[in-house]
Amino acid sequence: MNINQLDSLNIKYVLNEPLKNWTTFKVGGPCKAMFFPKNKEELFTLSELFKDEFFVLGNGSNILCSDSGVDKIVINTKNLNKLKLNGTLLICECGAKNSDISKLLYENSLSGFEFAHKIPGTIGGLVAMNGGSFNKTVSDIVCYVVSFSGIYNNSGCQFSYRSSAFFDDTIYSVALKLKPAEREDIDAKLERFSTLRKIKQPRGNSCGSVFLNDGYFAGKVIDQAGLKGYRIGGAFVSKEHANFIINDGGSAQNIYDLICYIKETVKTRSDIELKEEVKYLGKF
Ligand SMILES: Cc1cc2nc3c(=O)[nH]c(=O)nc-3n(C[C@H](O)[C@H](O)[C@H](O)COP(=O)(O)OP(=O)(O)OC[C@H]3O[C@@H](n4cnc5c(N)ncnc54)[C@H](O)[C@@H]3O)c2cc1C
Repeated sequence: MNINQLDSLNIKYVLNEPLKNWTTFKVGGPCKAMFFPKNKEELFTLSELFKDEFFVLGNGSNILCSDSGVDKIVINTKNLNKLKLNGTLLICECGAKNSDISKLLYENSLSGFEFAHKIPGTIGGLVAMNGGSFNKTVSDIVCYVVSFSGIYNNSGCQFSYRSSAFFDDTIYSVALKLKPAEREDIDAKLERFSTLRKIKQPRGNSCGSVFLNDGYFAGKVIDQAGLKGYRIGGAFVSKEHANFIINDGGSAQNIYDLICYIKETVKTRSDIELKEEVKYLGKF
């Protein structure tokens, strides 16, 4: 579709929107156009029209976008944030924030999502990534997912470690199966997880863990390679947690160069090939 024809879609969009405004690393150049669909029909119209030419953006908490930007349409899911509770089943639109889901479940005395309370992001991103913490992943509680390509029950989602069937698809909604519980018990879990995160998680602009823990702890092998605190431009390896890269006013290229340097160094010292959890957008 020609860029001049975008108005005819009648879906809110902006041209040349910088991704740095929408990623937790706070880097990234412009995309061709950023769309803000507000319902399933608009979301699926865009998925149909732009096929391989689009990228679905949740909260941008796990994305490194290049400084030169991306020659694609970005579908921003922020306006798809409705939540509907049906007994112990919660139907979430893909752009609903984990923190809002967690709050609603607490208010309704439903347990099972506490682990995700402080994972920055949307439920769409959490499901695509099969995100998790404290020995739980979202796959433990997904009942079904409605996506552009169909409706999938839990086994159809092909969940594995930080992966699912949805990287080349568009999730519209997710149904989560919860369990009734006492509010005090839910509150105690939320409190415990928040405290652990405060202690363990470095502050600053990051994407959380950069590398997968694939049979080893990435943070440990990076630390053993002596890379804590190592800096390229404005990007540095956190001294508190070596699997975190903090962006202190640097560029996407600084972060990318640091990722490459870490991989090379760890390969030389430990013969381990680190694999990225972070998703790249644009050319590096
Ligand atoms: C400080 C910090 C702490 C973190 N801690 C954790 C943690 O404990 N555990 C953990 O698992 N992760 C963690 N992360 C990483 C990140 O928060 C998760 O991966 C999160 O689930 C990403 O969600 P998002 O909405 O930001 O997705 P985005 O970063 O916007 O996108 C991530 C991927 O999901 C895809 N996606 C997003 N929405 C959709 C959709 N509707 N349909 C199809 N695909 C979609 C994107 O295309 C992309 O491939 C952390 C990040 C930060 C910054």
